[in-house]
Amino acid sequence: MTDDFFRPVSGFDLPRYAGVPTFMRLPHVGLDDPRLAQVQVGLIGAPWDGGTTNRPGPRHGPRQLRDASTMMRAQNGVTGVRPFEALRCADLGDVPPNPADLMDTMARMEAFYTRVRAAGIRPLTAGGDHLCSLPILRALAKDRPLGMIHFDSHTDLFHSYFGGTMYTHGTPFRRAVEEGLLDPHRVCMIGIRGTTYDSEDRDFARAVGIRVIPIEEFHARGVADVMAEARSVAGSGETYISYDIDFVDPAYAPGTGTPEVGGPNSWQALQVVQGLDGVRIVGADLVEVSPPFDPSGATAYLGATILFELLCMMAAAA
Ligand code: MN
Ligand code: MN
Repeated sequence: MTDDFFRPVSGFDLPRYAGVPTFMRLPHVGLDDPRLAQVQVGLIGAPWDGGTTNRPGPRHGPRQLRDASTMMRAQNGVTGVRPFEALRCADLGDVPPNPADLMDTMARMEAFYTRVRAAGIRPLTAGGDHLCSLPILRALAKDRPLGMIHFDSHTDLFHSYFGGTMYTHGTPFRRAVEEGLLDPHRVCMIGIRGTTYDSEDRDFARAVGIRVIPIEEFHARGVADVMAEARSVAGSGETYISYDIDFVDPAYAPGTGTPEVGGPNSWQALQVVQGLDGVRIVGADLVEVSPPFDPSGATAYLGATILFELLCMMAAAA
């Protein structure tokens, strides 16, 4: 059980539209706060989109997701999980990026998450674009490779862009495999679709043994069957969860840089997370929410709900 300090502000004590909007109305505990040692899951903002190749904006994601996340209440409506009672959760603030320097930002992010890991905290990150996952994995998987379950329209396994640029939001998991951060035989990518320049990413996946479940297979088999396979690919070892909001159909999540039609609806977007039951989750992220393309706020609200579902799964695995 948690002490009262780690309880989110209740809507019965202060209406949910009022107050300072931390993630899910949790207390803010910075990395230098003496309370840090008590935190079990840290919600972290990664306000950086330096890896974006087309339509930018996810640098504004964390602030919008914090605001939308004040809508989350105490209990999961489907599973009954009450994450804030199962775990001591806190908002650890934002990773401080250097918006003018990609390599410096990745070094800052790796250093930030190294401190989070050293404190024994499992991170739940709100991006940011998908390149954010690479420095997070560098910190979390420094000493052994992790498994990964990855929801996305894209594999993000491309070798390079523009003839040799190695770090974009289309390349993080290629680098992560090359650097030994992921065990490709324990990686499952779900929802892959859309037009591509070529099939170089899929060829790489096949060559190293990554399981790619394209959208046509996802729709044909259904959530339960697909997630049973994803759990089996990840196995009983430590596993990272990476969730790109463009996994969801743009009818439900238009506020993202590289939307692809024909995707899951918002209900399936939550069901896949509930299908992670039993996975040993060492950390998770929700990336690519782009507020400039999200005038209604619907994408951020779905993103905040996915973050809550991920937190419930981390609580169930605690
Ligand atoms: Mn992605
Ligand atoms: Mn994507």
